[in-house]
Amino acid sequence: MEAGQRGRLRARELRVDVIPVTERQQTISDGSADFDAIVVGAGIGGIYALYRLRGQGLSVLGLEQASGPGGVWFHNRYPGARVDVESIDYCYYFSEDLYRDWQWSERYAAQPELLRYLNHVTDRFDLRRHILFETPLAAARWHPEESRYHVETATGQTFTCRFLVMATGNLSAARDPDFPGLADFAGEWVQTSHWPDRQVELAGRRIAVIGTGSSGVQAVPILAQQASQLYVFQRSPNFSVPARNRPQDAAQYAEAAAALPARREHLLTTRAAITSNLGVPRRYAAYTAAERTDRLERQWALGGQGMNRIFADQGSDKTVNDVVAEFVRAKIRETVKDQAVAERLCPYDHPIGTRRLCVDTDYYATYNRDNVTLVDISADPIERITRTGIKTRDGHFEVDLIVFAIGFHAFRGALDHVDIRNERGETPTRTWHRGPQTLLGLMTAGFPNFFFLTGPGSPSVLANMVIMNEEHVNFVADLIAHMDANSLATVEPDPAAQDNWAGVVAEAASKLLRVGVKNYMVHVNQDDGSRVFMPYVGGLDRYLEICRDVVASNYAGFVFSPAVADADGSDG
Ligand SMILES: Cc1cc2nc3c(=O)[nH]c(=O)nc-3n(C[C@H](O)[C@H](O)[C@H](O)COP(=O)(O)OP(=O)(O)OC[C@H]3O[C@@H](n4cnc5c(N)ncnc54)[C@H](O)[C@@H]3O)c2cc1C
Repeated sequence: MEAGQRGRLRARELRVDVIPVTERQQTISDGSADFDAIVVGAGIGGIYALYRLRGQGLSVLGLEQASGPGGVWFHNRYPGARVDVESIDYCYYFSEDLYRDWQWSERYAAQPELLRYLNHVTDRFDLRRHILFETPLAAARWHPEESRYHVETATGQTFTCRFLVMATGNLSAARDPDFPGLADFAGEWVQTSHWPDRQVELAGRRIAVIGTGSSGVQAVPILAQQASQLYVFQRSPNFSVPARNRPQDAAQYAEAAAALPARREHLLTTRAAITSNLGVPRRYAAYTAAERTDRLERQWALGGQGMNRIFADQGSDKTVNDVVAEFVRAKIRETVKDQAVAERLCPYDHPIGTRRLCVDTDYYATYNRDNVTLVDISADPIERITRTGIKTRDGHFEVDLIVFAIGFHAFRGALDHVDIRNERGETPTRTWHRGPQTLLGLMTAGFPNFFFLTGPGSPSVLANMVIMNEEHVNFVADLIAHMDANSLATVEPDPAAQDNWAGVVAEAASKLLRVGVKNYMVHVNQDDGSRVFMPYVGGLDRYLEICRDVVASNYAGFVFSPAVADADGSDG
């Protein structure tokens, strides 16, 4: 077999299509084919959804296409993969004992530790027995006469359920590389988003990385340490700030654990449930020149996402944003010795914080190594992959391994990969051609009892995604409890409330610089070029207040239908 073919197969190996059902799996469902809730995806959201829904007495089944739990942290095993929100924040809060017992080893946990943690949670709460692994959801049909979804997996199993909960993630449907000539490549290629669960040979190899988003920025320093030569293909640079990673301070962790649950309550009153910053900022004008410099330098020394929160108005006022952006660009020039390379690494095409801020360890310093070359593909575009490497317009780079770090079909990719239909044969995203149509980022009109967690229209990826998932699962679980207590069979958004919510989401983003930037969070309408910012950017705190108001008003905006009484008089 050609080496290029091997590369393709390895990448495909990870996308399990049809796997025979093992005996163990068959017994998991105890022979039952009907469940109160089917939860698709066993990442952070899916694991907690199974726990929470089972806890209120529902029968649950989890379907996961991977061979184990962990979601993002199962799939993204690339060297350097780690969380960019502090671990002390980025973990479950639903169990105080769990929080207390687990001790993160680093300020920003690396992928193997995150995966261990998610396996630990799955086992600690005895959830594994509810999950069918290597079992992708392939199709689902709503049957109104039964108030149930009929669900089919890619392995050929069929189930029914009252509630279908898509915990399939916003960043789980990877973009596949489609460069011309890739099939001819004689070396090996891999994707950061589905890094193989085996040793990928790096030492002494000539390696190319294509893409310099968060994953590329994390992988480059580690790959550079092992490669004989590393070529980094950059289309447009992103801002990156130092993580300042270090061993987790045990005393700090113990203090955080002792302060539960107040710590969680506090996080819910913040914009993103992320604490690594200098506190709530004031507007630029409220600081003296010396104070501004002091804030910038202190945040740079502190490390992490807080560079987005130096001044309250940096996200909406370009001149204020320029101050922060220029500060980071100056740091890049200070770090990278070759000033021509430094300039190519400096982002000028977007204000800082309008794309996800990368958080790195030694990213810029890596360009001082003799074995690292930055290839600016905005000036010298890739034409094709050849048998031996990568051909750009002006050059040819001979490599043994290509690492694609090219991102995801964000927000709707996982929904679009499954054939989900309502009784009219429509798909959930059929009306999303001018941007997502959701109520609170949880449901879409026309799809009864169909939930997606952390969807567009919620703060989603702008917030700490563990907290975000916990809050969404709690909302869904409470809503189901409300329905069961009131003999309600179905729930779906009122289309008018959904339209109204789209307006709220748009209004929250309207004054922000980020709407105008090319970014996976922005949907651009093909006809008139108008732009829709997909997550709700008004803050997690405000969003949760709105959710609480919805609950307090008996779920205003949601439409319910009563359960149909059976012939014997009992509710169906
Ligand atoms: C590399 C990377 C780093 C990140 N770092 C951070 C961070 O530092 N902080 C932060 O807050 N967020 C971060 N995120 C965002 C991340 O998406 C969330 O933090 C979190 O992991 C999402 O969990 P989830 O359960 O919502 O989705 P996922 O973890 O994506 O889990 C979804 C699961 O659904 C499964 N699935 C999808 N479709 C199907 C199907 N049809 N059938 C069966 N199973 C299916 C997938 O295999 C996957 O296991 C990062 C994302 C990536 C990709």
